[in-house]
Amino acid sequence: MGSVIERASSGRAKCRTCGQSIAKGDERFGEALPNAYGDGDSLYWFHLRCAACSRAESFIPVLEQGQAAASGAAELLALARETIAQPRLSRILRAERASSGRARCRHCRELIEQGAWRLALHAFEEGRFNSIGTIHARCAVHYLGVEPSLERLMLPSNQLSTEELAEVVASMREGATQPIQPGLAKTSADAAAPDEESESSRKSS
Ligand SMILES: [Zn+2]
Ligand SMILES: [Zn+2]
Repeated sequence: MGSVIERASSGRAKCRTCGQSIAKGDERFGEALPNAYGDGDSLYWFHLRCAACSRAESFIPVLEQGQAAASGAAELLALARETIAQPRLSRILRAERASSGRARCRHCRELIEQGAWRLALHAFEEGRFNSIGTIHARCAVHYLGVEPSLERLMLPSNQLSTEELAEVVASMREGATQPIQPGLAKTSADAAAPDEESESSRKSS
């Protein structure tokens, strides 16, 4: 069994990237991966745009075979090639407002203040996506290496209005103009704030 692009014969399959259903009749990417529970391969389903954003290496060869003549194939291919060029782009799950002020940014390692825009990240391991934390929207360009295109922020896992999307983009662009360096991983022992203060002031002096 190989990977395929085909029209969904039912609306029951969920996309592995965004977690949303794939509508009956929509084109979908089925990636052949080793079955976690037995011998052989199983097909893991993705929306085409989700596959281009997050499963580019396996998606491109199937797309290039062209047998499926996927609608928008040229745009999908461009998106997938961008993913290969900047692999961290594949980690974007969605943009969201921080629900608490307790999570640290994976880039700068500072706390993300409650209500601030952040990007939730995930990584594909052993057949499934797992959360790998969040980054400030303002740190996104520094962390990802490039400003993510709107297609990546408009996957079905994003429930953003046009205004919210504009706020996320503005935050990313504003952050891109600042010299935000990657921070060091913090342990619970770092909770003593004075140490952090003196450390950062030493660095900046
Ligand atoms: Zn999807
Ligand atoms: Zn940050």
